[in-house]
Amino acid sequence: MSIITAPWTEREVALLADFQALDDVHHYTCPVHSRLRLIPTRKGWRCADRDCDYEQSWAGSEAIRWVRLSRIAETERTEFGQPARQALRAI
Ligand SMILES: [Zn+2]
Repeated sequence: MSIITAPWTEREVALLADFQALDDVHHYTCPVHSRLRLIPTRKGWRCADRDCDYEQSWAGSEAIRWVRLSRIAETERTEFGQPARQALRAI
């Protein structure tokens, strides 16, 4: 598994946030508050509990791949035509 290390770009943060919102994936969670999903920021993950100082500076690049795959799957269920699907695959 390859990893991406913070600082992350705005786009990476947005993709990781989308990953955390996906169903049926193993979300990044706080080791202290195992039920809380971590929140991505430019500086890395932080815990959803404001009093928790857990930080994590890496994420698996597969998380971003999953988000892209899920977006393609969504697109194929909508009315986008073939050119739009090809453009999305190239992202
Ligand atoms: Zn925590």
